[in-house]
Amino acid sequence: MRFLPVFLDLQAGPVVLVGQGESARAKLRLLLAAEARVRWFAIDGQYDVSGFDDTSVARIEHATSDPLTADLSHVVAVVCAGAGDTGHAMAARARSLGIPVNVMDEVSHSTFIFPAIVDRGDVVVAVGTGGASPVVARRVRERIEAMLPARIGDLAGFVGRWRDTIKTKLPDMPLRRLFWERVIDGPIGADVLAGRIAQADQALASISNPASFARNIGSGFVTLVGAGPGDPDLLTVKALRALQDADVVFYDDLVSPEILDRARRDAARVPVGRRVGKPGIGQDAIHRLLIDAAQSGKRAVRLKGGDPFIFGRGGEEIAALRVAGVAYSVIPGITAGLGAAAESEVPLTYRQEALRITFLTAHKAKDAGNVDWSALTDTKMTVVVYMGITAAATIRAGLLKAGRSPQTPVGVFARATRRDAKSVVGVLRDLPALAEQVESGPAILIIGDVVARSAPWRNANVQTDPDDLISELLRAAE
Ligand code: SAH
Repeated sequence: MRFLPVFLDLQAGPVVLVGQGESARAKLRLLLAAEARVRWFAIDGQYDVSGFDDTSVARIEHATSDPLTADLSHVVAVVCAGAGDTGHAMAARARSLGIPVNVMDEVSHSTFIFPAIVDRGDVVVAVGTGGASPVVARRVRERIEAMLPARIGDLAGFVGRWRDTIKTKLPDMPLRRLFWERVIDGPIGADVLAGRIAQADQALASISNPASFARNIGSGFVTLVGAGPGDPDLLTVKALRALQDADVVFYDDLVSPEILDRARRDAARVPVGRRVGKPGIGQDAIHRLLIDAAQSGKRAVRLKGGDPFIFGRGGEEIAALRVAGVAYSVIPGITAGLGAAAESEVPLTYRQEALRITFLTAHKAKDAGNVDWSALTDTKMTVVVYMGITAAATIRAGLLKAGRSPQTPVGVFARATRRDAKSVVGVLRDLPALAEQVESGPAILIIGDVVARSAPWRNANVQTDPDDLISELLRAAE
């Protein structure tokens, strides 16, 4: 790290800008946004301030003297943009006077460089690459922009306003930090982030005993988080935020290690899923763990594969939390069926071909036996089956009995969106054999004409059996 990020107080004195043209105007825009007073030496004498508002223009001083001899006392920084050789000479002069100087795009002449900036009021994030690549810095900035709540600056401002009051009431630093953590992570912080500042002020003012508020261990909560099908980049922004806030993460087997890696580094990680061949700790035990964690003041994340409410027992978990009086919220995730469809380009509701989708589960042959297949006769319906691998033969039998053609396109999508994803496609007649081809891991079955539009189908050149086609034609003629 050659350049140490620091924040310059622009109220302390003017910034000297030397240069002309669009590059000088770009720097002017940046400096004025930071409320700088700018002494501008436009070498060509063109002070083009069109597009700047009046208050900004009022902060610009047009300097017509020679910048190389001008008085630089109290100047906070010198910025050269589009200044050519004068910029280099100016940089040498600033350096000899110990004034920070930046020459645009010329690190060797600069003693400071401009970072890419995320500006949310009181919260400012600076991203630098040591001048190596502004494009990389901008990409990093975009990611940070996406992660930060829009009103994070308001939150900092809010804390700033109350800081001294709380400091007097809570001189003990560790306790004070705990106090602010509870405020920021709890309902008061949520109010500020939702723009309800007056409400937040009122709630904070009504805390009569800040010390016991800080120590309050009843204020934990549980966030049910959908982890998506496997690719960590398919986490939602909210899911990522919850993971980075968590004290403890209770996760299922289906959650990939890369996703778990996105949790806060010192968060405890507790597996609660079914191990291969073992039953797992059971749903009641999971409920107890979640309730205990919240009641001891922890921010607990219940991390579930795909979406918490799609074959994920999310409903039972929030019911148990409600009964126990534990605060919770739910963050949706991309369910495996949708992840698989997007990855393999199965357009689940292709116009005219598929007007409906059914998500069903057929874990064991027994469950598959309970499915009302007659509800699935509609050929314009795409059927997405979870946990259907071992029951593939029963599913085939059920669908054929319901009148679906043995030639109906089907796909088996295993470990979708993960690095080792595998998909096989074919026709309903061959479903059990196809299911056998995907080896271990979770898999989704998709059944319906739209599978013939998928990428694996285009690549596979699926053979259809003429006998089947004939019998299908005969049936259609009946
Ligand atoms: N709540 C989860 C589903 C849990 S049920 C969701 O919304 O996705 C478990 C079943 O989900 C597995 O048996 C499998 O059918 C499916 N599944 C989960 N992850 C998968 C993946 N990456 N690829 C294919 N199927 C997956």
